[in-house]
Amino acid sequence: MDCWHFVGYYFYSDIEDTIMKRLVILGGGESGVGTALLAKAKGYQVFVSDKGEIKKQYKDVLLNNEIEFEDKQHTESKILNADIIMKSPGIPDKVALVKQIRKVGIKVVSEIEFASYYTDATLIGITGSNGKTTTATLIHHLLKQVLDVGLAGNIGDSFAKQILEKNHENYVLEISSFQLDDIIDFKPKIAILTNITPDHLDRYDYKFENYIASKFRIVENQTAEDYFIYDADDEVILDWLKSNSIKSKALPFSLTNVVDEGAYLDNNKIIITIDNNQIIMPTENIALEGKHNIKNAMAASTVAHLLRIRKQTIRESLENFQGVEHRLEHVLKINKVQYINDSKATNVNATYFALESMDAPTVWIVGGVDKGNNYNELFPFINEKVKAIICLGVDNAKLFEAFGNMVDVIIETQYMSEAVKIAYKVSEAGDNVLLSPACASFDLFENYEDRGRQFKNAVRNL
Ligand code: ADP
Repeated sequence: MDCWHFVGYYFYSDIEDTIMKRLVILGGGESGVGTALLAKAKGYQVFVSDKGEIKKQYKDVLLNNEIEFEDKQHTESKILNADIIMKSPGIPDKVALVKQIRKVGIKVVSEIEFASYYTDATLIGITGSNGKTTTATLIHHLLKQVLDVGLAGNIGDSFAKQILEKNHENYVLEISSFQLDDIIDFKPKIAILTNITPDHLDRYDYKFENYIASKFRIVENQTAEDYFIYDADDEVILDWLKSNSIKSKALPFSLTNVVDEGAYLDNNKIIITIDNNQIIMPTENIALEGKHNIKNAMAASTVAHLLRIRKQTIRESLENFQGVEHRLEHVLKINKVQYINDSKATNVNATYFALESMDAPTVWIVGGVDKGNNYNELFPFINEKVKAIICLGVDNAKLFEAFGNMVDVIIETQYMSEAVKIAYKVSEAGDNVLLSPACASFDLFENYEDRGRQFKNAVRNL
């Protein structure tokens, strides 16, 4: 009996070490509430604190699960006593409370870091400035034909919540640089870096190198058994790789150069080679349009090939993948004019690929909150393809300055319905009308989804 007690004592004290830890979650959104649920199930004492108002749907979840929370305030005494803090990706490091937490030395993690402690699933992590959602969704689409796979990260239900509720064998994770900023041990089996162009620099002391370093954290815990798939046409990525080493196996993809291992393009065929095992995918039937989407298809097919999905399955999946809403989404054809919603193009690089993929004279709707844009790289496309520009922002001066002399028609408006009506008037049979704003949306819209939906409604009302 004594002996039994003795064993029991150690057993319980061990658990107590882990179960009584206090986890404070900053931010009561999707990732915060998901983490709260997972942490509670794992025996943490959980407290959620949000400086803004927590949405009703999330409050209800917290209440139903008896998780303590506060909103519209941060009570320091209830936060600084945490053993571990999960900081939601939207909260910048420069916030006073976060500075204080760092000073006190409490361990701070992101949601993907915390959630990854509780799964043995194979993790496929996708980061990059553009193309994350498209590539992640495409990979999920390819893998789900054969494997038990979840799609999480910045998409849909949080990773933490899915681990609690579904526990798939594989996860495709869309990962922002903000999530990567607070990883410690997070290690994807397969990491994908789609590209790097300047974005979110306000969160990185306006230093591009800090943002680049943040993106590359996706490989920092990888070992020789892991894989790193990246765009080998991207100079920023290549430069970083010249002066830094990675431990994982590199699988580059390129539209222009032959690669021994990885993927490249040869006469409209994608050639993918991994350990001398080669598959060939014709590009002509890929449902997604544009060069950038060939890149996304290369990255996704490389993952599928690595996970031994059959060639035929990959090919069919690429053919029937219809893309993601608000990304070069074909809305309607009216009087032989194609209306295209690319509202998610919130930076110049995304719009570059949208304009590049236009195969007809284009009426271009652009504008919103400029993030320090340099429009020069778009000039060749304006000359070649754009017949009219409709500026849709509160302040359109920079657009007029950049493009005023390049097209015959340049008009401004602050209403989506009006922008679409003008586009209707100035377009002719065979043209495209493209909403690809190259700017953030919050001067006139709630977010890019709202902007895209308003565009689609306006088109349907024509
Ligand atoms: P993210 O999740 O990284 O924001 P999305 O897949 O949502 O990326 O696409 C954002 C925008 O970038 C869309 O306008 C889309 O057409 C464009 N885009 C998609 N893939 C790429 C790519 N590989 N390179 C550049 N732009 C891309």
